[in-house]
Amino acid sequence: MPPTRWPSFLPSNMKDIGNSLRVRYAPSPTGLLHVGNLRTGLFAWLFTRQRGGTFVLRIEDTDRVRSETHYEQSIYDDLQWFGIDWDEGPDVGGGYGPYRQSERYEIYRGRASQLIAEGSAFRCFCSADELASQSETAKAKGISWTYPGTCRNLTRDAVDLKVKDGEESVVRLKVREGTVGFADIVHGDMQFSTEVISDPILLRSDRTPTYNYAVVVDDALMEISHVIRGDDHLSNTPKQVLIYEALGYTVPLFAHLSTILGPDQTRLSKRHGATAVAQFREFGYLPEALMNYIALLGWSPGAEGSEVVPPNRLVQEFRLEKVNKNPAIFDFGKLNFINRQYLRESPRTESLVRLALDPTGWLPDAGQDEWVRMVSATLIGGVDTVSDIPSALESVLAFPVDDSEAVSEALGDNGVLDLIRAFGDELKAYDHLSFDDFRAIVTSLKKTTGRKGRDLFHPLRVVLTARDSGPELEKLIPLVELGAKLGVAGTLDCRARVKAFLARQASA
Ligand code: GLU
Repeated sequence: MPPTRWPSFLPSNMKDIGNSLRVRYAPSPTGLLHVGNLRTGLFAWLFTRQRGGTFVLRIEDTDRVRSETHYEQSIYDDLQWFGIDWDEGPDVGGGYGPYRQSERYEIYRGRASQLIAEGSAFRCFCSADELASQSETAKAKGISWTYPGTCRNLTRDAVDLKVKDGEESVVRLKVREGTVGFADIVHGDMQFSTEVISDPILLRSDRTPTYNYAVVVDDALMEISHVIRGDDHLSNTPKQVLIYEALGYTVPLFAHLSTILGPDQTRLSKRHGATAVAQFREFGYLPEALMNYIALLGWSPGAEGSEVVPPNRLVQEFRLEKVNKNPAIFDFGKLNFINRQYLRESPRTESLVRLALDPTGWLPDAGQDEWVRMVSATLIGGVDTVSDIPSALESVLAFPVDDSEAVSEALGDNGVLDLIRAFGDELKAYDHLSFDDFRAIVTSLKKTTGRKGRDLFHPLRVVLTARDSGPELEKLIPLVELGAKLGVAGTLDCRARVKAFLARQASA
């Protein structure tokens, strides 16, 4: 399904504002999309949609060993699930394609030849081993090492001869002297001395492009106006700016987004829990809740109001220039809190609950709609995600009559068995117990037994649930009764529970 092009909640004239604003999102298909990457995509998308620009998806698959087609597909799937759409990309086309780097090799090679011809780039025949040993030696002496320019000034004849002799070479950019600077929306103006920059490799000896080179050629030719990406690329940017200069293109504006850390302040990784977008989806998070939460990683909607900002408002309220350059901490508790808020409101909650129950065998053949509605209404307030529903339901449906201490303790006092018998007698008048019926019974039991408060309710809870704590009876009773009526996985109704309990006590 092609992505929707323009969010319906935005005024259509916003489209015209940003005709020249072109922002790209450039994931590499070398693994599952993770939340750090998704945050980059989200900030870029929010910024673009807010300003009516064009959002370009480019697949950076120059790492031929690690790139896999199914990861590319999972990027599309994850983004679509999450709610990010794109105007140009490998799957939807556009006027600046191809949008997969592996299909652009000829473009990179052509530009490299041009740079060599113009004298801005050169072939370097130094072997990687040779340079590595130079760098090691310098390191041992505590000196910083940059490529010494060994092949910078080889004559054309010398180069031709080496090429003819089959010597391997890479193509390097000739780094100019002076400083190099760029504007960064998050970090402000950045300046670097080019002294510390080695002549960067543009094409490797197998004629494949390096990241720094391909990304500049693409961003330039795709007329990208804003480069929004992770700050792990901040140190690459001076080299990239030099490549823009050499190619004769305007340097775009940059926004480098901070790293995301786990609660222990180390880089967010699998150790901290789910990090792949697909996992959040599997765990039953609502995409709009995840989007809301991820938008808060480095940005906040301001002092006023809550942090619950749904996607349509995010597009309006997000401010790239307010993004914090310090690392953001991923807080699973806050994500769960936000997900709970959305679960209560979402029109899709019931269908997700149905999906979550499907593999458990706790969906009746008949009366499924009523059951799903009841399960959702009863349990959704107590779970973080819909995938917690089966275990929440299990704890309600199960009736683990056992000799647990809690149960024997609750039955320890002499009047309790009388109370339960009286409860059992009252129940006989009902086919189906509603919570109102239960209340009426309780009122009557108060009178006949003289018990009240915990003395009354606790034994009733233990009898009905065979546990000494659990969900409120107000929720439990209607759910258990409906489950029994619909025949959900052998659920016992309240009468059967009391009967089973009394039988067990009698035989004990
Ligand atoms: N493919 C790069 C990455 O996934 C993107 C770098 C960039 O946006 O320039 O980190």
